[in-house]
Amino acid sequence: MTRYLDVTDLSQLVNRHGLSTCLGEMAEYIREDYLRWHDFEKCPRLANHSPDGVIELMPVSDANLYAFKYVNGHPKNTQRGMLTVMAFGALGDVDTGAPVLLSEMTLTTAIRTAATSALAARYLARPDSRRMALIGNGSQSEFQALAFHALLGIDEIRLYDLDPQATAKLAANLAAYPAIRVILADSVADAVRGADIVTTVTADKAYATILSPEMIEPGMHLNAVGGDCPGKTELHREIVERARVIVEYEPQSRIEGEIQQMPADSPTTEFWQVVNGQSPGRENAEQVTLFDSVGFALEDYSALRYVLDVAKALDIGHDIALVPQLQNPKDLFALLQPPLTSLQKKRA
Ligand code: NAD
Repeated sequence: MTRYLDVTDLSQLVNRHGLSTCLGEMAEYIREDYLRWHDFEKCPRLANHSPDGVIELMPVSDANLYAFKYVNGHPKNTQRGMLTVMAFGALGDVDTGAPVLLSEMTLTTAIRTAATSALAARYLARPDSRRMALIGNGSQSEFQALAFHALLGIDEIRLYDLDPQATAKLAANLAAYPAIRVILADSVADAVRGADIVTTVTADKAYATILSPEMIEPGMHLNAVGGDCPGKTELHREIVERARVIVEYEPQSRIEGEIQQMPADSPTTEFWQVVNGQSPGRENAEQVTLFDSVGFALEDYSALRYVLDVAKALDIGHDIALVPQLQNPKDLFALLQPPLTSLQKKRA
């Protein structure tokens, strides 16, 4: 049987276990999996583009589990009352190919992206970082804010979005966390001034320039989350040129990340190298660091592994017959036989 987790199950799981706990524990699952980078069979995700968006398939596997996620990115969806990013995914048993988990992944993606961002910032931001600018106040933003608060001790967050209603929504949701000082900024420059960490999580299918070079101060860590498609970036090229750039999986980031603006041999470091100590994270207090996040399948593998473990521990979700289980595994046709009538049963 396959464990099935729908949106209600996932909400219940996070509420019962606690969002901060989920963010911290999921970050640890992600770290564990980045530490065994070479155990995984990897490829850039498969993207089908349309004028207003993209639908992507993200597969990855190790010797035990196969994972995939279906995810879209349609920045104009919110005008139609729909989410920009929606996702679901599955885990399969590599030995037999049997699906072990089918799960919602919209909420899970927001948590895993925020957990990955905060994990990366642990290696790349200055340890004394307390103040973050958060540009783009849509669906991902609360998760980013709370991950940086829970995992890094960020206690002041300066918000900016082109849409003041999005900022008001984020401020209202963060009001439940009095330990976070929330400041509404008038512009990107106002939000970014004096910040230790800048998170950009905007949605626009364009080469946008959310951050320009004059906004960047020595020692800042940039967590660029929103540029994740060909032709969809957030940072001025000069910023990328000057920063120490960390990517998740270079073959995918060259296509989708901020580094798509750079020559194919521009210097980058993959995150696993920083996690296992092969490469330094931040090299000095003055350095500008950039986590050029696009979202990699390995993080979804970790996230699915995590939600399955918690769902089993809390007995959440239910088991479904997603694939047949047959008395005779060579007789698939048996599924199409009508049930025997009581008379036929007596005669049989
Ligand atoms: P959303 O549509 O809910 O929110 C995006 C917000 O960005 C909106 O409120 C919009 O008004 C704002 N915005 C757009 N252009 C702006 C600009 N120039 N200045 C300031 N604000 C601007 O989307 P979301 O679900 O929060 O996702 C945000 C982005 O993050 C998307 O581009 C998505 O593809 C990306 N994303 C990346 C990852 C990853 O792993 N890197 C994971 C999930 C989502």
